[in-house]
Amino acid sequence: MVKCNRCGKKAEILLPYGPHNFCRAHFIGFFERRVKRTISRHGLIRRGERIAVGLSGGKDSSTTLFLLNKFFSKSNEIIAIMLDEGIPKYRDRALKIAEENCKKWKIHYVRKSFRKEFGITMMQIMRKIAKDENLGSTCSFCGVLRRYLLNKVAKELKCGKIATGHNLDDEAQSILMNIFDNDPKRLARLGAIAGIGETAEFVPRIKPLYETPEKDVIAYASFNNIKAYSEECCPFKWQAKRNLFRSELDKFEEKSPGTKYKILSFFKNMKPLLAAEQKKEKLHKCAKCRSITSEKNKYCMVCLQLKKVKK
Ligand code: SF4
Repeated sequence: MVKCNRCGKKAEILLPYGPHNFCRAHFIGFFERRVKRTISRHGLIRRGERIAVGLSGGKDSSTTLFLLNKFFSKSNEIIAIMLDEGIPKYRDRALKIAEENCKKWKIHYVRKSFRKEFGITMMQIMRKIAKDENLGSTCSFCGVLRRYLLNKVAKELKCGKIATGHNLDDEAQSILMNIFDNDPKRLARLGAIAGIGETAEFVPRIKPLYETPEKDVIAYASFNNIKAYSEECCPFKWQAKRNLFRSELDKFEEKSPGTKYKILSFFKNMKPLLAAEQKKEKLHKCAKCRSITSEKNKYCMVCLQLKKVKK
């Protein structure tokens, strides 16, 4: 019998990167201390500020909401923001679970849709892309529109931060993707607090699970009976470039536990150097919607993307 490193009872989870073996109670304690450490070490949440959580209904964002509500419900107001991209039999089902969780945990939530906000759904965008592959990938549209809408709603709600469910795996994948794309500007925007720096236009995005591996999130959600959508994947997921990075990184992690942490440590060491690159980024107003953008173009990415599919 494998024993818990802390109490000697039967271990219920083995974490090869430690290595650590934990019973359920000691794993939960270990997991929550690490998330609290991430929050305090990176100064993610200020006492009293209103925090939005981007809630998709999946395990990462549901766990983030559960944890922030557990840690901060007495000192901060937590609001969930749900975005419906218009992907039937996927997001509608995931958001149903998200709404159930909010009701169960007594958390206020706001739900917005691409259809109402942009006058187009991801299914309609996908149909346009199917006819013209030069338009780009479905996910590149979805990501731009989601980030914009999340920021807009959080600003309207006067939130000081937007928490997302990004975990260690997501961050390690993003670091490598930006290196492979030779994109130091995007690389510089990564981190526990993400984005293009302090401006009144952008609500900073924070990642409480930044130092937490995905497998640990799955175990924590299961041990705490956090209901999350886990059935069908998004029908467009196969298009995401990230998939290749995910599967290769998982292979490295299996052969050499701790690889994902090492990639994150490398990035943390590089971040001060990258900050100089980030300061060079010039921001300007989009000629169409007047929102602040870091793009070199006259228009922001949202206007550029919508122009392609709303001709
Ligand atoms: Fe959007 Fe792509 Fe994610 Fe589907 S897989 S929700 S299209 S970003």
